[in-house]
Amino acid sequence: MPGTLKLYPGVAEELLGSKAYYVRAGLFRDVDVMLGVHVSSEFATSYGQGGMSGLVSIQYSFHGKAAHAAADPWDGHSALAAVELMDVGWDFRREYLRLQQRSHHVIFNGGDQPNVVPPEAGVWYYFREMDYPHIKELYDLGNTMADAAAMMTSTTVTRRLVGSAWPTYFNKVIAEDQVKNIQAVGMPQWSDADQTLAKALQKEVGKEVTGLKTKVNELKAPEPGTGGGSDDVGDISWNLPMVYMMYPANIPEVAGHSWESGVAMATPIAHKGSTAGAKVQAMTAIDILTDPVLVQQAWDYFRTVQTKDIKYESFLGPADKPAIELNKDKMAQYLPELRKYYYDPAKYKTYLDQLGIKYPTVK
Ligand SMILES: [Zn+2]
Repeated sequence: MPGTLKLYPGVAEELLGSKAYYVRAGLFRDVDVMLGVHVSSEFATSYGQGGMSGLVSIQYSFHGKAAHAAADPWDGHSALAAVELMDVGWDFRREYLRLQQRSHHVIFNGGDQPNVVPPEAGVWYYFREMDYPHIKELYDLGNTMADAAAMMTSTTVTRRLVGSAWPTYFNKVIAEDQVKNIQAVGMPQWSDADQTLAKALQKEVGKEVTGLKTKVNELKAPEPGTGGGSDDVGDISWNLPMVYMMYPANIPEVAGHSWESGVAMATPIAHKGSTAGAKVQAMTAIDILTDPVLVQQAWDYFRTVQTKDIKYESFLGPADKPAIELNKDKMAQYLPELRKYYYDPAKYKTYLDQLGIKYPTVK
């Protein structure tokens, strides 16, 4: 079977920090079709623009002037005051923004200590919307707010683009092929132990006790989204035909980006779900490698439907660089701790054996 498979790591997905750079570097120029995957509790694929938003992730650093906060505060210009004014301004403005927008911030630098007028402070914003023009509009508004906060405090502001993402848009032709493979593989056979753990966790976190899903999803026509999470694979999806399969390696109902989502990862639930997902990936790749018409149709859809009116434009400027230093300190602190828990298949039959955990352990 002739053809080349390339594997692209989803580096810094949660920071929306790499795919736009991959695109800018031309990594996909010779790629026919992209088969992406994401962990889920569902076994599903989709097409068109789903509920995901795109975003710009941006850090504003304010620069003021230090002074003794009690003896001569009038000699200082507080960068923290600028951060606080920007945040208050944004939260007032939020009421008058489109319902589809999602915006959030954290203060990554709040100054050093109270008796020093903070000369440096910084705030990090995610601005999410449903399409490029609206994301751009929100981003421009954020920049205006930052400039205004700087003016109010006699400080200056610099900004750094940390990440960006287009809203995802997946290919109908490949999705229709892939869903057949999902149906052929079917949901994993969950054991009583798997279901017991899933239900116990759902009960523990106060969610509906539904257990693990036992049916794969149908392919549905896309509905207009009302805003939600983002994924920087969106940038890839606007440059070549792409699908994004959700594979069932997690427990339904649990909160994303929290400890709840980490529970299933060392269990047979994740192992079975990942194996099922891998089978569908392989089957879909075989379809693509053996059926040139499928690839042709996927590109026809990409050119004549998806990108008929909307052309990809990167949020990245030519000088923007990936924020690869961002989690360096955390990684230095935690990596040695994590290493202690690396799985040693030579000594233990399963990872749970290594951890000394009886499966399932529930209240
Ligand atoms: Zn994710």
